[in-house]
Amino acid sequence: MLPEQGMSKDDVIAALSAMRVNDVRWQDGKTFGMIYDAGPEVHEVIEAVAPLFVHDNALNTMAFPSLGQIQREVVAATASLLHGPHTASGFMTSGGTESILMAVKSARERGRSERGIGAPNLVLAESAHAAFHKGGHYFGLEIRKVPVREDFKADVGAMANAVDENTVLVVGSAPQYPQGVIDPINEIAALAADVGANMHVDACMGGFVLPFMEMNGEELPPWDFRVEGVTSISADIHKLGYAPKGASVIVHRTKELRKYQTFVFDGWLGGFYASPSMQGTRAGLPMALAWAVMHTLGIEGYRRLVAETIEARRTMVAGIRDIEGVDVLGKPEAQIVAIAAAPGFEDPVDIFAVGDAMRERGWFHDRQGPPDSLHATVSAGNVMVIGDYLRDLRESVANMLGERASDRSTNYATLE
Ligand SMILES: *Cc1c(COP(=O)(O)O)cnc(C)c1O
Repeated sequence: MLPEQGMSKDDVIAALSAMRVNDVRWQDGKTFGMIYDAGPEVHEVIEAVAPLFVHDNALNTMAFPSLGQIQREVVAATASLLHGPHTASGFMTSGGTESILMAVKSARERGRSERGIGAPNLVLAESAHAAFHKGGHYFGLEIRKVPVREDFKADVGAMANAVDENTVLVVGSAPQYPQGVIDPINEIAALAADVGANMHVDACMGGFVLPFMEMNGEELPPWDFRVEGVTSISADIHKLGYAPKGASVIVHRTKELRKYQTFVFDGWLGGFYASPSMQGTRAGLPMALAWAVMHTLGIEGYRRLVAETIEARRTMVAGIRDIEGVDVLGKPEAQIVAIAAAPGFEDPVDIFAVGDAMRERGWFHDRQGPPDSLHATVSAGNVMVIGDYLRDLRESVANMLGERASDRSTNYATLE
């Protein structure tokens, strides 16, 4: 119930602070996901810039030209990291899901307009993010889901069998969320190009990691606009771009491709309406904070954070493989690690029970499956604690031998 009498500022702050007592304590680096922490220097900038933009509205960038400029500069910087051609253009969105929804919507519109497709389908691997299914559901596309290979990468042969003349979108991920492996983008893009479909690379996780890995001298398979046939890419600034929540980018190869994203309506008493995403009124705050973080870090800052993060991920994978009874799924190529019972140890080791024991020691992973596994996104905030993590994991595996977790739900969800 809304209080009859308004509360004082101190009471508001006290009440909200009290609500946070059971929230994950990410500040100590023991949470592998959801919060990505670039450290105190970046926090300081965020906290200084936030009051400047907290009231602003990006609904109409003619009223707030600053937000128009912020969007143009953030998109251009991101497009350049993704090796977009000079024609590349895009928009900021509120997050990976909204970027992906817009990729699905753009593909549907292009298929309808250029190929006369009335019953569109989209083809993806079972590893592709759930947001594509949300998009199919919202926008009326049939989803054709195919298995992954043993190494958890999209099975291109199975995708080829699913693609037909009504396919408007084929999806690849760089890397995919569950096991952190990069799909064969080259081959997937070729499939899409064959039928004139869009090809979206979901680099929500990789967009602010893979470019800097390459600059740091790491060899990666081709995954961005350098691959012909890739028509759009999503990259989340609020993940390893280290901006606060509410910031992602979708980049299209050309402005012509981007036009299918924008909704325009000229039959309203309120006047001509044009909108590039799901939202109407749009907070300027996350856009400005994303610009602030990107410009605070610069290429050099991101390269340093990515170098530390990938080094930590390597130490973590090697350390996990060294613990009897557990293993890492696939061969992680960026910052994501999925931890499961080792082959032959599925019976004594219930990885969810191990996760519960780790939770008691303050470590937070998401659970996922199939196969049952713990999901860890490593980022700069976790770098300092990998040694402690491996020690606690070794002890937790040993302590939980033969134990089963009573709750077996996977939890990437808000149900209420
Ligand atoms: C996080 C993520 C998404 C969805 O992004 P949100 O910001 O959570 O909406 C999509 N794809 C991948 C690979 C992701 O990691």
